[in-house]
Amino acid sequence: MKDSKFRKGDAQTAVYSSDEMLRPSPVDRIPDGPTTPQIAYQMVKDETYAQTEPRLNLATFVTTYMDEYATKLMNEAININYIDETEYPRIAVMNAKCINIIANLWNTPEQAKYKCGALAIGSSEACMLGGVAAWLRWKKRRQEQNKPTDKPNFVISAGFQVVWEKFAQLWQIEMRQVPLTIDKTTLDPEEALKMCDENTICIVPIQGVTWTGLNDDVQELDKALDDFNKHSGLEIPIHVDAASGGFILPFIQPDLKWDFRLKWVLSISTSGHKFGLVYPGLGWIVWKDAKYLPKEMNFSVNYLGADITQVGLNFSRPAAQILGQYYQFIRLGFEGYREIQKNSMQITQYLHDQIAKMKPFINYSEDVVNPLFIWYMKPAYNKTAKWTLYDLQDKLKQNGWMVPAYTLPENIESYVVMRIVVRQGFSRDMADMLLNDMKSAIADLEKLTYPTPTRVAMEKKTPVDSHVFDHTGSRKKKK
Ligand SMILES: *Cc1c(COP(=O)(O)O)cnc(C)c1O
Repeated sequence: MKDSKFRKGDAQTAVYSSDEMLRPSPVDRIPDGPTTPQIAYQMVKDETYAQTEPRLNLATFVTTYMDEYATKLMNEAININYIDETEYPRIAVMNAKCINIIANLWNTPEQAKYKCGALAIGSSEACMLGGVAAWLRWKKRRQEQNKPTDKPNFVISAGFQVVWEKFAQLWQIEMRQVPLTIDKTTLDPEEALKMCDENTICIVPIQGVTWTGLNDDVQELDKALDDFNKHSGLEIPIHVDAASGGFILPFIQPDLKWDFRLKWVLSISTSGHKFGLVYPGLGWIVWKDAKYLPKEMNFSVNYLGADITQVGLNFSRPAAQILGQYYQFIRLGFEGYREIQKNSMQITQYLHDQIAKMKPFINYSEDVVNPLFIWYMKPAYNKTAKWTLYDLQDKLKQNGWMVPAYTLPENIESYVVMRIVVRQGFSRDMADMLLNDMKSAIADLEKLTYPTPTRVAMEKKTPVDSHVFDHTGSRKKKK
């Protein structure tokens, strides 16, 4: 072994005087020998040196700020494996308490001491569990009726998050997409029902559509579905993907019915690591009642003094997030959550108002129902602009901001929009800094005499005159 000098005590070596700092980092082979922890630490740290400060990243929904005690608590639990329930029975109980609290936030009618739900690594796993449960329930019913079970499908708007595409692919369940239009960017209940048949395992409305920040109208869907089920004799249920909305609606719009108060909503999933205010990865799913969780998915253990339901795709996983979630519930209480979400909503509304005042822009919707929104270029401005929102994204990146520009989903993909997600850790003062940086970036872009490469590319794709930007105002507020 060449690299065995470590035995001679080169821990004394200053990190940046070491040979390692002159060598490329390992790419495909494990190094021959060890190095000091200081050097290894620095190499890894330097390689992950943040391009963007996490809190200047307005693209992500995921928590980038927790207070000191939460951070301490989670760090202290970093070596705890959730699945070792015999070793850490209190964590399984704490997990069950979190599920109870969330189930009650969503108005569960379930009377059992421990509500039926499960921990997940994020909404993705939680959505999968919700989808699989709906599929297995459907399959069982079909088998009882001696009907074929080989062609299941589910219905969702084309504004779905990528997890649903994964669910469809991995379980080979057909995904039927209700198209979106520029005026109707949420799931249209009537259109959704037209796609339903005896093979539909569930309909999936979204609370906090990733692309737009808007909410599908679950109440209207539930009503229309109730009628549909009555007439067809089917029992198509609803799974609500409330990745963002699950921790916004109970605090901001407690009277809005989107949850277990509705008849056909049998399961709801959310991301604890989004507006649940916990570092990643944490997701939750709750069923309306234990009878909606198929037995095949339910692994019960009874040796902990309580019946603890274990459901999940993972086995081993970190437990620190459960401590983080339970801490937040205790630390903040209902009112604390409400005030944090209200601040985020107010700052979002402020940004929304200010961006509406900027000459080039128009907000997609007048509604701000979650702490995120999108906007695009005014059609008239777009006609003569030498730049695109992708150029603005690049400019803002130079100031450390991550504000993503992207195209809307299928059918409305010719719209380039920009999105901001406001999370705990983003203040009004930071919003002003962002707005100032936006204004000076736009002033620079307006000085251009030649179109930018992204503008040239865009015009090749959609010539300005025959343009789809025929939408003249932002979507009107809902009555
Ligand atoms: C973020 C998101 C997901 C995926 O959630 P993760 O927690 O990142 O796994 C699913 N659905 C919607 C609507 C989302 O916004």
